Amino acid sequence: MEHFQLKRAADVEQALNMAMAQTSAVNPPGMPSTRFLAGGTTLLDLMKLDVERPTQVIDIHRLPLDKVETLDGGVTIGAMVRNADLANHPLIKTHYPVLSQALLSGASAQLRNMATTGGNLLQRTRCIYFRDTKTPCNKREPGSGCSAIEGFNRNLAILGTSDHCIATNPSDMNVAMTALEATVHTESPEARRSIAIDEFFLLPGTTPERETSLNAGELITHVTLPAPMPGSRSVYLKLRDRASYEFALASAAVVLTVSSGRIDHVRIALGGVGVKPWRSHEAEAALLGRAPDAPAFRAAAEAALQSARPQSQNGFKVELAKRCIQHALTLATQTA
Ligand SMILES: Cc1cc2nc3c(=O)[nH]c(=O)nc-3n(C[C@H](O)[C@H](O)[C@H](O)COP(=O)(O)OP(=O)(O)OC[C@H]3O[C@@H](n4cnc5c(N)ncnc54)[C@H](O)[C@@H]3O)c2cc1C
Ligand code: SF4
Repeated sequence: MEHFQLKRAADVEQALNMAMAQTSAVNPPGMPSTRFLAGGTTLLDLMKLDVERPTQVIDIHRLPLDKVETLDGGVTIGAMVRNADLANHPLIKTHYPVLSQALLSGASAQLRNMATTGGNLLQRTRCIYFRDTKTPCNKREPGSGCSAIEGFNRNLAILGTSDHCIATNPSDMNVAMTALEATVHTESPEARRSIAIDEFFLLPGTTPERETSLNAGELITHVTLPAPMPGSRSVYLKLRDRASYEFALASAAVVLTVSSGRIDHVRIALGGVGVKPWRSHEAEAALLGRAPDAPAFRAAAEAALQSARPQSQNGFKVELAKRCIQHALTLATQTA
């Protein structure tokens, strides 16, 4: 493990000033870089594996970013709110059940007690080559190649991939937040920014090392969710190799309203199949104005996977994701 300096910030301003001194988004050997330490459940693992090699780690536990509050009919979630607290918060359980379900489907109770909202947004891929420094990986070491394309790719992406990287974003929370059209709020010494979640996550293209639009040293302060649509129903469905403590092979977050027997508002996001939490505008267009029935759900599933580009071992995900979407829509429209 690389030697690093551990600092503890008392407030946001101090954290930003500390970060400004040493900033780099990636890990070029020999270059100074900073990481914020939230729950540590991703960062510390990756540091032990030498995948993350920050020279400065800023502990942000003491920052006052741990509240869930109502705002303009919606909700604001501090970056340090723990996944367990968020999942069980009455506001979230009542008005955003899809988010509560997604969080509770992730990791284990112990991990959810540590993991934070900001850290979950920025968790890294579980591609085995990314975590193994002895193998080429463009995301970890730009320009070194992608071991997964010709290698083990069963759990990797089929939507949004490039010839440089096919890794999935592994988060469940991010999928629900994408369907809920969350906004990520950040702060740096230069500016405060509000970034729509779909623009927060980037496609890999030729630069898979750059996963989000966050700049080096920029701190996530909170996430906001818009007011829920009156009468909306929402569901998160996760399909995986075992029933708990496992990442998604395919998942679907569905938020919709039905009026006079027709779907008049719908948002669908997919997990486990995309290089980023995958909003499916195609599936939404296929559903809008239709009765909530099996043929409409099938049409949505077909539309969502039309651009899928499977690899040698993950062709099964195309059908799995289609079934996941149809079942999630069935559950959402059955919910009272
Ligand atoms: C065994 C295991 C199983 C798991 N299973 C699942 C699963 O099924 N589903 C799932 O969704 N997740 C799963 N996870 C991932 C888990 O949800 C994440 O590790 C966790 O959410 C990360 O949050 P953290 O606060 O611990 O982040 P940290 O490890 O502290 O940080 C992660 C990254 O975010 C950065 N960061 C943190 N907070 C901020 C901030 N406010 N501003 C800017 N940067 C910040 C850190 O610098 C670091 O780069 C699993 C993890 C493990 C270890
Ligand atoms: S899929 Fe991405 S993360 Fe995995 S080896 Fe290829 S470049 Fe690395």
